Amino acid sequence: MGRYKHIFGPVLSRRLGLSLGIDLVPYKTCSLNCVYCECGPTTLLTDERREYVKTDEVLKELADFLKNSPAIDFITFSGSGEPTLHSGIGNIIDFIKTDFPDYKIALLTNGTLFQDERVIEEVKRADLIKPSLDAVSDDVFLRINRPYRGTGPEKIIGGLVNLRERYSGQIYLEIFIVPGINDSPEEIHRLAEAAKKIRPEKIQLNALDRPPAVSGIRKAEYKDLLKIASLFEPLAEIISRYDTKQLNILPSDIEDLILQMVSRRPCTKDEIRTLFSLRIKEVDGILERLLQEGRIRIVRGPRGDYYGGI
Ligand code: SF4
Repeated sequence: MGRYKHIFGPVLSRRLGLSLGIDLVPYKTCSLNCVYCECGPTTLLTDERREYVKTDEVLKELADFLKNSPAIDFITFSGSGEPTLHSGIGNIIDFIKTDFPDYKIALLTNGTLFQDERVIEEVKRADLIKPSLDAVSDDVFLRINRPYRGTGPEKIIGGLVNLRERYSGQIYLEIFIVPGINDSPEEIHRLAEAAKKIRPEKIQLNALDRPPAVSGIRKAEYKDLLKIASLFEPLAEIISRYDTKQLNILPSDIEDLILQMVSRRPCTKDEIRTLFSLRIKEVDGILERLLQEGRIRIVRGPRGDYYGGI
């Protein structure tokens, strides 16, 4: 891949499979300067849209890489900055969808630019959009996302609601939890309310996996994330890495956590399996035991059987 400047990989990602990355802006050009950013501090903090790298060069690299039909699952706009700041993103998406229609496109974005309807128009042909939303209150937003002036959570949420209305692909809303900043019960409640308005297909909770832009930022505890996950509708997934063996979570702890969660809100077997990264046999065993002991019950719901508290 040494001959390419704007595309990288393909890399194997847990969430997207084999993914070819496209980086459309110079290192850390972003409208936010998040304290947890795993690419380091933002060097150019801006909301100006322009052709940061030549669109033609990106198209040439893509054509060269894709001409032999490599087996990849996604072409992903990501990298070390905000891809929607590039004014040619729409042309690049159109190019892929027209000349290489077999490839799926994902866009990882901080969601700050969707208040501009042109941006939504430009990215509408992507198959999956993963916007971030880490705060609803202004003060929490300023502390965690440290934005370019004029960018605020109200505008971002409005933009994401617009996106949902006008975009028919999948939206996975990503929320990065930073202990002590955006994990208070009040802020989580506000985030859950905002997520209801945005209506994403999935809500994903993330936490620190690599060194952050600002020292002193901690990784959220797994048990805290499980509790937070259960407060979202649909139930959120945890996408950060946790080694549950290292955390010394015993089978009895898992049973207790499942019991606490279904007591707060009924869940399907599949939701429990995904959230706790368990095999279906393990979930079956735990639910069977809890049912026999009369500690949970089955409730019929829109997606089949739900397991709920007594
Ligand atoms: S939006 Fe993404 S790239 Fe920009 S500072 Fe935040 S985490 Fe880093």
